[in-house]
Amino acid sequence: MPVADDRVARQHERMVANQIENRGIRHPDILRVIRSTPRHLFVPANVRSKAYEDRPLPIGYGATISQPYIVALMTELLAPAKKHRVLEIGAGSGYQTAILGQLAAEVYTVEISPELARSAAKTLRELGYTNITVRQGDGYQGWLERAPFDGIVVTAAPPELPEALIAQLSEGGRLVVPIGSMWNQELIVIEKQAGGTLKRRSVCPVSFVPMKPAGK
Ligand code: SAH
Repeated sequence: MPVADDRVARQHERMVANQIENRGIRHPDILRVIRSTPRHLFVPANVRSKAYEDRPLPIGYGATISQPYIVALMTELLAPAKKHRVLEIGAGSGYQTAILGQLAAEVYTVEISPELARSAAKTLRELGYTNITVRQGDGYQGWLERAPFDGIVVTAAPPELPEALIAQLSEGGRLVVPIGSMWNQELIVIEKQAGGTLKRRSVCPVSFVPMKPAGK
């Protein structure tokens, strides 16, 4: 292995041990997938050397790739299973999408920025993830043609719960979404129970980029 690859591999392994396992993410499938997904290939060249650091990184167009721990936590809260159809709102770099793609049957992702939608699709295609579909569009509308979803994860923060996303959740499905104002949000998990009753719980404070209203 060339020296540079070896260094990246060590940074990657340290990230999983210190940032993910140490903070309580124990699901073997999630750890395996995070170990095998090359995060440095999802970020622009100017921040590539920081890809395994304990923080979000700018990826252009006002977006950030989420902190590794937050990706792991949201994945754990969503609990994707091999037979699940999952919707993501805010593809950004495509990193969270790739993680979900390896744990679910199908992943659909909606990204409002045309440039990010294009580059996420390209990265995911080049890395060989074949069960993922990227679409440019407004995430507030979800993806009606592909609904219902067993899981929906939102990676930008809306001020309140988007109704269309609740409607597109299957019974037994889960929605993981940061809700709140600019940079000050609460990570919420909504479970749609049999009959459509919603169960809501608050997990922790988080700091995501705000979800843009359509047309902005
Ligand atoms: N999961 C991504 C996070 C990217 S940041 C990653 O880890 O790389 C949040 C993303 O949500 C940005 O790419 C932003 O362009 C997108 N976004 C913001 N408002 C949106 C909306 N209304 N619909 C769809 N995507 C939106």
